[in-house]
Amino acid sequence: MQNELFHGKLDFNLESGWQEVRALFVIPHKVLILTHKNPDGDAIGSALGLKWVLLKLGHTVDIIIPDDAPSFLIWLPGHNEVIVKGRKSDQSISRYFDECELVICSDFNTPERLGSLEESLRKCVKPKLLIDHHPVYEQFTDVQLIDPQKGSASEMVFLFLEKLLFTELIGPEAATCLLAGIMTDTVGLKVASSYPEIYETVAKLIRLGADKDRIYFEVYNMFSTDRMRLLGYSLEQNMKVLPEFRAAYIALSKNDLKNFRHKKGDTEGFVNYPLSIANVIFSVLFTEQTDHIKLSLRSRGNFPANEFAKKYFNGGGHRNAAGGRYSGTLQEAIGQFESALIDYKELLHAES
Ligand code: 5GP
Ligand code: MN
Repeated sequence: MQNELFHGKLDFNLESGWQEVRALFVIPHKVLILTHKNPDGDAIGSALGLKWVLLKLGHTVDIIIPDDAPSFLIWLPGHNEVIVKGRKSDQSISRYFDECELVICSDFNTPERLGSLEESLRKCVKPKLLIDHHPVYEQFTDVQLIDPQKGSASEMVFLFLEKLLFTELIGPEAATCLLAGIMTDTVGLKVASSYPEIYETVAKLIRLGADKDRIYFEVYNMFSTDRMRLLGYSLEQNMKVLPEFRAAYIALSKNDLKNFRHKKGDTEGFVNYPLSIANVIFSVLFTEQTDHIKLSLRSRGNFPANEFAKKYFNGGGHRNAAGGRYSGTLQEAIGQFESALIDYKELLHAES
């Protein structure tokens, strides 16, 4: 594949560049798809949705993720063939990067989000394409297709395929994966979904065979008893509401997680609950990991959770959904959070 033919920015609203990209995709290549660590529904859904269509075009496609997906996603069609870095030797992972002809990155805006795959991506000299819905501050691929107004990377993948005139290659498997990504990143079309086009995309995916009822069932109605009780504990005994800052947080220690036999993905979505409290517009979930504290941040309205995460917790993301990390104890992380709130008090109160 000619690297020099492939550079710049793609834009759904412009015609330039699309013919060249289509020409590249109608010839079979060896494609590697990458997505971010702690993969969520949008990461896995966008990667798998794209893979199904590229397979129909005759490409050879591998998806590599840094670590395992949570159990509520493993039913997604094609998930069993996703390669997990942590389960393979470094040598075999290098081979995928050496042998591929094109790398497609989905649902992340900086190579750091790849965790243990970051170095491999940085060193890789193959043509790279990014499809994402985060603001990108530094271009790290040859071509990028970015729209931070979109609710998910999966929607971006659908629009990308549509723009390349590949819509009819989207079968029920691809449609289900893409709709799963849209539904999970928008919390069941609750957030980042107040624009009409998203419903047009959802309608098209359902027409193409997406199994919406199964997505809803598998993602939201397959809690283990432990997970449900951990949610109850988090809200009843652990949540702290700070009305003076219009904020709330939940802080789960390693011990809390152990007590509820925590499995990967069990705390997914917990951070959204405090936002249902009247007058709370900023919610944070702290979870103690082996070597750091992980933060999930959610906000309502214009309050910039991503800016807050970037400034104090080495993270980022979207305005209303961001993540970050803290090196230190859980108590120290909470301390840092509470003092940072003082700096943001005015902004928190400026929100309607
Ligand atoms: P979650 O709270 O679900 O883990 O992450 C929410 C969003 O925050 C993700 O979709 C991603 O955009 C962003 N995010 C999460 N963790 C990080 C991180 O460590 N660094 C950056 N830059 N963004 C993150
Ligand atoms: Mn996403």
